[in-house]
Amino acid sequence: MQWEVVIGLEIHAQLATQSKIFSGASTAYGAAPNTQADLVTLGYPGVLPVLNQDVVVMAAKFGLAVDATVAPRSVFARKNYFYPDLPKGYQISQYELPIVEHGHIDLTLDDGSVKRVGITRAHLEEDAGKSLHENLDGKTGIDLNRAGTPLLEIVSEPDIRSAKEAVNYMRRIHQIVRYLGISDGNMQEGSFRCDANVSVRPRGQEEFGTRTEIKNLNSFRFVEKAINFEIERQIEVLEDGGKIVQETRLYDSDRDETRSMRGKEEANDYRYFPDPDLLPVEISPEFLAAVKSAMPELPQAKADRLIEQYGLKAAEVEVLTASRAMADYFEAVAASADAQLAANWVCGELSGALNKDNVDITDSRVDAAALAQLIQRISDNTISGKIAKEVFAAMWAGEGGADEIIAAKGLKQITDSGAIEAVVDQVIADNPDQVQQFRDGKDKVLGFFVGKVMQATQGKANPGQVNQMLRDKLKS
Ligand code: ADP
Ligand code: MG
Repeated sequence: MQWEVVIGLEIHAQLATQSKIFSGASTAYGAAPNTQADLVTLGYPGVLPVLNQDVVVMAAKFGLAVDATVAPRSVFARKNYFYPDLPKGYQISQYELPIVEHGHIDLTLDDGSVKRVGITRAHLEEDAGKSLHENLDGKTGIDLNRAGTPLLEIVSEPDIRSAKEAVNYMRRIHQIVRYLGISDGNMQEGSFRCDANVSVRPRGQEEFGTRTEIKNLNSFRFVEKAINFEIERQIEVLEDGGKIVQETRLYDSDRDETRSMRGKEEANDYRYFPDPDLLPVEISPEFLAAVKSAMPELPQAKADRLIEQYGLKAAEVEVLTASRAMADYFEAVAASADAQLAANWVCGELSGALNKDNVDITDSRVDAAALAQLIQRISDNTISGKIAKEVFAAMWAGEGGADEIIAAKGLKQITDSGAIEAVVDQVIADNPDQVQQFRDGKDKVLGFFVGKVMQATQGKANPGQVNQMLRDKLKS
C-alpha cells in the first residue's frame, strides 16, 4: 500500500522584547534562577497584567509578512491547568480570537516547484517556567525567569507532506521572524521550537488519518529525524493491522525514537475563558499602516531584487539572503567591488571560514570593507584569484588587510611581460619532449607548461599573460 504523509506544525517563537509580555521583568537569558520573577510573574493575588505593546507590533509584523489577516480585535484567554512551573494555575494565551489568521508561505521544493503552506493562525501567549533536576540532590527546582516571556505560536494547516518539507517550512518561518527582528530564533536557548503533528493515510483517501503530536523539537535536524521515525512507526502499526492512538509523544534524540508521553484520554480540559484582567487588543487601521511602513525588506523580495540588481543566480542568492546580516554584508562588499566576485567570495571562502570556525557573519574576522579591498586587487590584476585565497586566509588569521599582506608576503602578480617571458623561455628550453608533443597536436600539454611557469613564479605570474605567451611561443 502507498501511504501519504500529512503534517502540521505548531511553532513557538519567543518574541525579542526587553521585558515580559505582561510585566516589566527582564527577559534576558541565562540569569540566576528566579531573579527575573516579579509579582506578576509569580501570580501574586491583587496584581494585574499589563500588555507589552511591543508584542502587538511584532505579531502584526508577522501577520503582514505571511499575508495574513491581522485581527482588528483579539482576545486573551486563560488556559487552565496545574503544573509546578505555572504559578497562576493558568497560562494566558489566545483561543477563539487570535491576533493573526489565514496566512501562508510559499516554499520552493527541490524540483523547483512552488508549494503553498497555509498558516491557520498565530497567537500571543506567555511561556511557562522551567523545572530543574540537575545538581539538586534528587529534588526538583523551579526557575520562573522564563515564565511570562512572550511567545508567538504559529500554527500551520496540515498541508505539509514530508519531513523534508516540514524542515523547509520551519526554516522559512525562522528566516522571516529573524528578518523581521521579532525573534532571535536561538534554538539552543529554546527561543524557537516546534511541535509536529503527524499522520499517514492511504494515498487517494480524502479523510486524514489519526495523528500524533511530537512535542518540543528544538533543532531542524531533530524535526526531520523525529518525523521520519514517526512516519515509519505509524506505517508499521497500520500495516500490522493496528490502529494509531491519538497521543502526545516525545522525541529521544539519543535513541532516535519517539515515545508516548500521554494519551488523549489523559488530555487536559483547559476550560478556556476570556481573561477578565485584560482588555481585548484593538488594532486600528492607522496602527497597522504604521507597522506596515516600518517593515524591512523580506527574504523573497530581497532575493528577487539581488537577482535583478546584480545579475546573480537563484542558488547564490539563496545563500546570500539566508539572513539579513548576510545580505547586508554582501551588499556592502558589492558597493565597492565587482558584484559577481563579491557573491562568489561571500558564498565561497567567507562562508567556509565562518562555518569552519562557527562564527556568525556579524562577528566575521574579515569585514565587508576588507573583503572588498581584496576583491579589488583581483579585479585590477594585482593578484590572481588563487593567490587571493592565500591572502584571505592570512586576513582571516588576523595578519592585516589585503594590501598589507600582499606587500609583506611579496604576492604581487608579475605582469611585467619581460619577466614572464624569461621564465616562459626557460620552461620551454627545459622541456623539449613536451614541446614536441604540443607541436604534434596534443593541446593539453599547454596546462603542463602553465603549471611549470606558475611554479617557477610561486603562482604570481598573471595567468592570462602566461597562457597567451606560451601559445604564441609554442606555435612558432
Ligand atoms: P490542537 O487543538 O489539538 O492543537 P489543532 O486542530 O489546532 O489541534 O491542530 C494542531 C496542528 O495539527 C495543526 O498544525 C494542524 O495542521 C495539525 N493537524 C491537524 N490534524 C492533523 C492530521 N490528521 N495529521 C497531521 N496534522 C494534523
Ligand atoms: Mg496542539
